[in-house]
Amino acid sequence: MANLTVRERAKASRETAKNPTITVNWRASARLRHGHVWVYRSDILKQDELAPAALVTVHDEGGKFLGTALYSSSSQIALRFLGIEKLKAADLLPELRKRVPAAIEYRKELVENADAYRVVFSEADGLPGLIVDKYNDVLSLQALTQAMDRGDVREVILKELVDQLAPAGVVESVDPRIRKLESLPPREESLLHGTKQDTTFHLNGVRFHYRGLGGQKTGAFLDQRENYAATARYAHGRALDVFTYQGGFALHLARVCKEVAAVDSSRPALEVAEQNEQLNREHHAKDIEWIEANAFDLLKDYSTAGEQYDTIVLDPPAFAKSKKVLDTAMRGYKELNLRALKMLKPGGVLVTCSCSFHVPEADFMDMLRAASFDARRTLKVLERRGQSQDHPVLLSVPETGYLKCVILTV
Ligand code: SAH
Repeated sequence: MANLTVRERAKASRETAKNPTITVNWRASARLRHGHVWVYRSDILKQDELAPAALVTVHDEGGKFLGTALYSSSSQIALRFLGIEKLKAADLLPELRKRVPAAIEYRKELVENADAYRVVFSEADGLPGLIVDKYNDVLSLQALTQAMDRGDVREVILKELVDQLAPAGVVESVDPRIRKLESLPPREESLLHGTKQDTTFHLNGVRFHYRGLGGQKTGAFLDQRENYAATARYAHGRALDVFTYQGGFALHLARVCKEVAAVDSSRPALEVAEQNEQLNREHHAKDIEWIEANAFDLLKDYSTAGEQYDTIVLDPPAFAKSKKVLDTAMRGYKELNLRALKMLKPGGVLVTCSCSFHVPEADFMDMLRAASFDARRTLKVLERRGQSQDHPVLLSVPETGYLKCVILTV
């Protein structure tokens, strides 16, 4: 080290210094040994002095090495595991950087007939707290943890994304609620790279607008991409898309159905849906009817009025944001599904979704059974589906799998 400057020496010693250590209780150790990647704050037994966003070494009660993790000083999830490797502070940036092309590579074979998909899905891609979506030539990046918000981490990841994907623009999207939970200072949404922030993209050949910044954002629920395509395989006749947002299912239905109506309570969302419809006009037999209404009221009115459909899609927002409200959520799901079933013609198709992680698939199926019993309809399951493959589910981290989509016929 003789020829090093003071600064270089300080840097070198930082880089070879030992990581701060955290000791976790048996419960957390068992979870980690089974492949989970989170440690709750309440499972920490002791810890060295730690800076927010630090890289830490994790030990069990007996002092055995468990792995390396990123620390949050604020979230209930205090540690997010990077793996069972012994990573030092100097290894962190190269390691994170390496995980970006791996995530891109993983999707190469899996994403078909679309130029929009999730490029990085947080824990499922070994980059806990980072979400990156690609909409054609524009990327949207979101940092959800203290560690992913670090300047050096953002810089390395942005550079790698730009090198790999050569986007015309990268926008940062911000969730103020999450920044508060992580005790991160407010951040403005902005263009991080390039000049382009608006574009159009397609999923299964259906075109959509994307606008990442400014008042009315546009985009899509990319996790439904494969379910849109599956729905189009069975949909027919007179169709109703309930909770349409910016028209995701409705625009797919319009390619194969005689008549499509779509409902949402948000006027701005419907305005974008209509603009999206304009992009696809040449493929539609008839205009889509966009209806601004509360879905519960509308389904009640329509079923009382004796309306009949060949295809109904139900894709409500997450009713069960926590375990506490699960009963209420299940009642909401059942009411929607029951009303939809009553309106389906024989041979009709129901596409029914739940994006609440807290509703396990088995409970969702039980709810559907109860609804079919009450509606006195016999249902056959055509497909039980989840989220698109660009939102990978880690087998050992059940929280990464949240979307249920069941396609049934009456
Ligand atoms: N199916 C959509 C995503 C739906 S997101 C897609 O594939 O893109 C949920 C939507 O439900 C949002 O657009 C929200 O505005 C709408 N919503 C929430 N509560 C509602 C209600 N009670 N009635 C009608 N729409 C509602």
